[in-house]
Amino acid sequence: MNQTHHDIAIIGAGAAGMMAALRGVLNNDKVLLFGGSAKDKKRSRAQWVTKVENIPGYSIYKKGITEPNKETLKFIQEGPFAQNLTHLPSIGVTQIEKTEDGFLLVDSKGESHLAHYIILATGVMDVQPKIEGTIDTIFPYANVQSVDYCIRCDGHHVLGKETAIIGDSGESAGWIAVLLHERYAPPHLSIITDAHEPKYSDELKLLLDHYKIQVITKGLDGIKGDKSTGKLEGFYFCDGTFQPVDFAFVSLGMLVYNELAHGLGAETDERGFVKTNPSGESSISGLYVAGDLRANTKKQIYTAWDTAVDSADDINKKLRLKRRKDVLAS
Ligand SMILES: Cc1cc2nc3c(=O)[nH]c(=O)nc-3n(C[C@H](O)[C@H](O)[C@H](O)COP(=O)(O)OP(=O)(O)OC[C@H]3O[C@@H](n4cnc5c(N)ncnc54)[C@H](O)[C@@H]3O)c2cc1C
Repeated sequence: MNQTHHDIAIIGAGAAGMMAALRGVLNNDKVLLFGGSAKDKKRSRAQWVTKVENIPGYSIYKKGITEPNKETLKFIQEGPFAQNLTHLPSIGVTQIEKTEDGFLLVDSKGESHLAHYIILATGVMDVQPKIEGTIDTIFPYANVQSVDYCIRCDGHHVLGKETAIIGDSGESAGWIAVLLHERYAPPHLSIITDAHEPKYSDELKLLLDHYKIQVITKGLDGIKGDKSTGKLEGFYFCDGTFQPVDFAFVSLGMLVYNELAHGLGAETDERGFVKTNPSGESSISGLYVAGDLRANTKKQIYTAWDTAVDSADDINKKLRLKRRKDVLAS
């Protein structure tokens, strides 16, 4: 057992975790930051984000979360607040228990750590389509401006392009198609579903019909493109037909990394996102949640930053109030 009782343990060092660490350290609180095991990193959005075009100044980075995060770490580690940060870059948290005055965390190496508060920032991952029986088929085209997942981040890329939305039998893919048509009017727009007839409302059916958005339910059977450059040419279907596509969005839902929150009994919404108050505190006192994992937030880098700051500042306020009470009582 590591005997240091940290003010805040931050679980996850993606967009939200790194901002929470920066804010916590600059607030002069003692921060323990877990970057996640190799497996945690590989399955995180932070690892897969490439060029970021919707944040001013960020298009200079080839990897829009991991590269600026490295700079932030360096800034902390070389500055006057360096002693406030204990960074465990390649270690994940596997279990959390509530204690009398905080939490006990067990890491992926079996070590235990103590913290008064936690900011959980483990994020989410987008569900991938299975093509030719595996999700690996899509990866050469993913996040290289051929196949993408986030409309706010990359929707503008459909301008002038043959576009497709890969969806399921729900309405989400349909409404994304409507939005893309109304914003950018790409020359051709289709929705490719998982071989099931989608259940659309009359309003959505009318709009898809009016905007000439094609719904293809023949089942995806293969991709045509150049794997080495990631350039997409189109999709093959189970009936042997082919649809030319330059740019595709995947809209199949999200895997929500809420296991640690569930382990403590925190309340989640129907999609698995952790419910919190406006400062990010969950139904478990002292357990804060920031970034994509928090319910009712935009799943974006700048939202992750803002939610992280709200949580770190609220924790600092509680720490200061306790210290103030102790000083006044002495
Ligand atoms: C392809 C793609 C492109 C995107 N482009 C943009 C864009 O251009 N602009 C934009 O604003 N947003 C973009 N986003 C969204 C953005 O990536 C997310 O909103 C953001 O990463 C959320 O931050 P987060 O900290 O919640 O999660 P993440 O950044 O995913 O970080 C999660 C962290 O948790 C760690 N972790 C997980 N489990 C554990 C554990 N058990 N113990 C310890 N650590 C753990 C991981 O290692 C990782 O460090 C994009 C998303 C995708 C998928």
